[in-house]
Amino acid sequence: TDSDTADEAVRATCDDASTCKRFATSKGYWTDLYVQYFVRQIGERKAPEINRGYYGRVRGMNLLIDAFLKKTQCDCQVVNLGAGLDTTFWRLKDENVMPKKFFEVDFPMIVARKIHHIKTKPPLSKPLIETHSTDSLRLDGHSLDSDRYCIIGADLRDLPALEEKLKKFQINPELPTLFLSECVLVYMTPEQSSKLVNWVADTFPAAMFINYEQVNMNDRFGQIMIENLLRRQCNLAGVDVCQSLDSQKERFLSAGWESVNALDMMTVYSVLPQEDVARIERLEFLDERELLQQLLQHYCICWAVKDKLSLGEASI
Ligand code: SAM
Repeated sequence: TDSDTADEAVRATCDDASTCKRFATSKGYWTDLYVQYFVRQIGERKAPEINRGYYGRVRGMNLLIDAFLKKTQCDCQVVNLGAGLDTTFWRLKDENVMPKKFFEVDFPMIVARKIHHIKTKPPLSKPLIETHSTDSLRLDGHSLDSDRYCIIGADLRDLPALEEKLKKFQINPELPTLFLSECVLVYMTPEQSSKLVNWVADTFPAAMFINYEQVNMNDRFGQIMIENLLRRQCNLAGVDVCQSLDSQKERFLSAGWESVNALDMMTVYSVLPQEDVARIERLEFLDERELLQQLLQHYCICWAVKDKLSLGEASI
């Protein structure tokens, strides 16, 4: 059916993200020791502005993730929604800042592929086994569970099923919980993503939500971005050309989140540690800085906090 085709195109986006991250790390934009096990080939060259864009995305997300872990002293959970082939769990393990449990959710088909990589590559499976109290990991075709990490096959548009699965994998709503969605909500309708954001707010008294996605699509550059995605038959239900930083915030505010911030990536890029930005800007020559600025202005990070437990998360 059409909706199967659209879902398939959405699932393919996880390879794009990881392929771009693989390429940028091979150039030294940042270090990721694990992405190579999910994407073997470095693949074809990506334009410097793409690499810088991914650098801002990964650095920006990591800064907020690390701030939450520090604030909660790792006495918390992380739930990565639409995680794809993301490697954050392995980074946190290496940096010794693991949450109590790290949950990942994606379509069953993506999850099955990720599990296959984990099972067959010791650098990926060893950290799971090391942090697990019994000998064998709990595994079936569409999920993997260990004490500190689990990966769940589910559709984020089906909240009752999502809730049931997270419970089955021992999520504790009383613990401070960080939700991540990196280029994911854009593939759902505004109603579906609002319901998801509402459900998190209603279910977790102390939570933070970090969302990265497209914004300000109502100009020529935004049109080109949308056309590129549509050409690939992606179901772009959530691409609202009117979506501004304010409407990004409104999605959370109207769902009862207490403090909400949204910055476009141009701003994020300008507040990242500038020594490191100077370092990566020396990696590859960028002809047209204007192109980078345009790209960065069309993505944003929005983060929202609910802090019924008064952990001071709102100050992140
Ligand atoms: N967050 C990862 C990253 O940034 O590297 C992957 C991003 S990729 C662009 C989008 C991911 O969201 C894909 O892995 C896709 O399968 C997942 N996704 C989109 N809609 C979903 C849904 N309704 N249920 C579960 N996963 C979904």
